[in-house]
Amino acid sequence: TSLRRTADDQFTSKTRLPEFSLKDKVIVVSGGGRGLGLVQAEALLEAGATVHAIDRLEEPADDFARVARRARDSLGSSLTYHRLDVRDSPALHAAVRAIADRRGRMDGLIAAAGIQQETPALEYTAEDCDRMLGVNVTGVFMTAQAVAQQMVRLGNPGSIVLIGSMSGTVANRGLICPAYNASKAAVLQLGRNLASEWGEHNIRVNTISPGYIVTAMTASLFDRFPERRTTWPQANMLNRLSYPEEYRGAAVFLLSDASSFMTGADLRIDGGHCAW
Ligand code: NDP
Repeated sequence: TSLRRTADDQFTSKTRLPEFSLKDKVIVVSGGGRGLGLVQAEALLEAGATVHAIDRLEEPADDFARVARRARDSLGSSLTYHRLDVRDSPALHAAVRAIADRRGRMDGLIAAAGIQQETPALEYTAEDCDRMLGVNVTGVFMTAQAVAQQMVRLGNPGSIVLIGSMSGTVANRGLICPAYNASKAAVLQLGRNLASEWGEHNIRVNTISPGYIVTAMTASLFDRFPERRTTWPQANMLNRLSYPEEYRGAAVFLLSDASSFMTGADLRIDGGHCAW
């Protein structure tokens, strides 16, 4: 098989670690307009992928233009922006189908679009819950489905990565976001079940559970709760927060043949976070 050839050839090939290559692969990144999604998108571009970013921002972050320019001028690839809300399922499915038609293939997804809201549980409204679960669970599910449908239609094997959170398995003292944590627990179970159902189509599905990352999402929480700048780093074994760049390797690993026998798994990247 081509995989076996890759293993045999790797000591003679000029390309080091060819199993990490994403050359010619077409990958969708939801939440790719900024933050973790954009940083992971840049890593995929460096590994050779053509990336389509989906986000609801009217304009993606300033950095997006730089990454898109770098892809075009130095990496021989491309980064394209699609403004849409992952809760709009018909628009989402149509956009993903159009990407597959245009490129003639569909190889992967990082589902990073997500929201966070901290409100004491006694004050949470049904609308708050619907919004949280609508983006973080239904939105993630429908994005994975839209991509998987194109993989099946085109007969492509594929790899899907859902961004969960360490908050899907622990209840952190001081955090007031039960619906967020519940949504991230659902992402873990969604990942396992989609992996089980889509294995027969040669589609792998894994989740990444990050710890605290320095992005706009956490910055807004630091503004509200400044003491967290000191308490949060103390909650893991490395005594610090993480940066989006520390999730680049995981994105390339999970989307490439380097993880070809890995599915239904969760990759915890949380500095050894301990509940406290
Ligand atoms: P950001 O808020 O910086 O980026 C998330 C992006 O997703 C934003 O551009 C956001 O737009 C977009 N988005 C939100 N809802 C939708 C929607 N309905 N349709 C399309 N796009 C949408 O967050 P991060 O980069 O920090 O987070 C990325 C992922 O990582 C999230 O799933 C988050 O839950 C997860 N995570 C983050 C951690 C952290 O500490 N930052 C820790 C663990 C997990 P908008 O600004 O308009 O909402």
